[in-house]
Amino acid sequence: MKTILDKYDFVKFNEPMSNYTSYKTGGPADIVALPENAESLKAILTILREYNMPVYLFGNCTNILVRDKGIRGAVILTGRLNDIEVEGNFITASAGVSMAKLAAAAYEASLTGAEAVSGIPGSVGGAVSMNAGSYGTSIEDILVSSQYLDENLNICTLQKEQHQFGYRTSFFTDKNYVILNSTFAFTHGDKSSIKRDMLEYARKRKSSQPLEYPSCGSVFKRPAGHFAGKLIQDAGLKGYTVNGAQVSEKHAGFIINKGGATSKDILTIIDYIKSVVYNKYKVNLELEVKIIGEE
Ligand SMILES: Cc1cc2nc3c(=O)[nH]c(=O)nc-3n(C[C@H](O)[C@H](O)[C@H](O)COP(=O)(O)OP(=O)(O)OC[C@H]3O[C@@H](n4cnc5c(N)ncnc54)[C@H](O)[C@@H]3O)c2cc1C
Repeated sequence: MKTILDKYDFVKFNEPMSNYTSYKTGGPADIVALPENAESLKAILTILREYNMPVYLFGNCTNILVRDKGIRGAVILTGRLNDIEVEGNFITASAGVSMAKLAAAAYEASLTGAEAVSGIPGSVGGAVSMNAGSYGTSIEDILVSSQYLDENLNICTLQKEQHQFGYRTSFFTDKNYVILNSTFAFTHGDKSSIKRDMLEYARKRKSSQPLEYPSCGSVFKRPAGHFAGKLIQDAGLKGYTVNGAQVSEKHAGFIINKGGATSKDILTIIDYIKSVVYNKYKVNLELEVKIIGEE
């Protein structure tokens, strides 16, 4: 298979995932491909399927923790699928478009609705799959439809109500489908207030989150009736450290890489937090971050 894939200059072999993850940790994937358009994405998927290679599809890798032994299989990253089209109050964005770029395009066209999610560091595909959200707005509030590749690599269309959105879940959760692009609806607004709100959300994020260190954002989902960060803080775990990994002093819901952390260090902290919080509060913390790779 290597000889067949060698002709694609966007394919790398034995590539450290730490080059791509927002945690800056994670061992090598057998193959990492960054296709530049939907056609080359489909071509590479066809080859990988012929060879029964397990495939993992990621966007900006801001919600994944790759184990230190890496990934046996192929990783496809959507970062170069970057098209964006504004039509009236609708914007269609390819899966690899960053949420920041989507929000900037909305702002340029005087469209309001993306301000609260503009600081989520992921891609459109990752945000739709995760139903990402912040400051009271979730992807489901602005989404109209998505196009995706199914298991037979057919292009399918999914309307909003078919996305089965839940809290950080969607139709795409735990499926091997590939979101190609999504269309969002906005309303016309005042450019200066859109800008003001985006800056205000960015300020809030910077003041409450340890953005100066690598992380995956909130490690745990919000448990019913609680806030994960508050439970972790009340359990006295702020600052808890394993080698280069630490429960953030600024926001206890974040585990940060202070320098030289391994994924094992982060996983050790995750297990410790879960057991301490369960023993103290009888609350089972559920992971928001997705743990991937060879154990
Ligand atoms: C500092 C920081 C702050 C954060 N703040 C927030 C926040 O406020 N709100 C929030 O919800 N999240 C937040 N996150 C988490 C993360 O940014 C979101 O979950 C984001 O939506 C993930 O997008 P991604 O492109 O990085 O996806 P990835 O991490 O690459 O992937 C996440 C999941 O999406 C799937 N996926 C990605 N692309 C596609 C596609 N094209 N087709 C099908 N499936 C796909 C993957 O298979 C995986 O299951 C934060 C993270 C960090 C580091």
